[in-house]
Amino acid sequence: MRQKIVAGNWKMNGQLQQVIQLSNELRELLNPIHNVQVIVMPPAIYIPQVRNVLAGCKIEIGAQNIYPKDFGAYTGEISAPMLKDYNCRYVLVGHSERRHCFHEDENFVAQKFHHVKEHDMIPVLCVGETLEERESGRTEQVIAKQILAVSENDKQCFRDCIVAYEPVWAIGTGKTALPEQAQEVHQFIRKLIAEINHSDAERLPLLYGGSVNENNAEALFAMPDVDGGLVGGASLNAKQFVEIVKCIN
Ligand code: PEP
Repeated sequence: MRQKIVAGNWKMNGQLQQVIQLSNELRELLNPIHNVQVIVMPPAIYIPQVRNVLAGCKIEIGAQNIYPKDFGAYTGEISAPMLKDYNCRYVLVGHSERRHCFHEDENFVAQKFHHVKEHDMIPVLCVGETLEERESGRTEQVIAKQILAVSENDKQCFRDCIVAYEPVWAIGTGKTALPEQAQEVHQFIRKLIAEINHSDAERLPLLYGGSVNENNAEALFAMPDVDGGLVGGASLNAKQFVEIVKCIN
């Protein structure tokens, strides 16, 4: 059975007191939940505090970004060894906000993806189409390109990683993909990866992201190829996030 996962991407939100409060609430509310791996991705500067609050509980910590070098003259960036100092096991790569606001292209996303793996961390590769790409019937083409950019020189690369399907038109917009739309793309991604490596595709957790909330999560998570969610806005409210986590069965 594939690992069920719900990850909360806090983006650039919260300040110290709120982040500590949110972490404390999650620690308390998520304590009795065992059938799902929960990951929180705080702003990098607060990772040490979140790690302290969550010490000894099963919630894992992820980073929202990484630079694909171990050290050096890369002002403002954060490396894998730095993240590992604070027990970060997961790293988002290819999030649409990084692709679009920070112009990260497929080669750079692929570099980051492999760098994370080289450091025995788990990349959460985000892929997804814009509204214009969907409306012009190019969803599968766009997603295939994003996936194949990563596997070009490494056919085993989907072992020990996570892929998140995040339609750009659904991120932060309140417009969620219908469960059937999500399933259709997830099935496509799994089939595409199966052509590269069948057993990796079978084991790969595929998360849906894009305006997931406590009202739509159950139907999305009930889809056979949806193994959980990547949650932005709704992960900033502990009660809402926990309700979403409870939708995993
Ligand atoms: C995200 O940032 O990955 C995301 C899915 O955001 P939201 O849930 O707010 O749409």
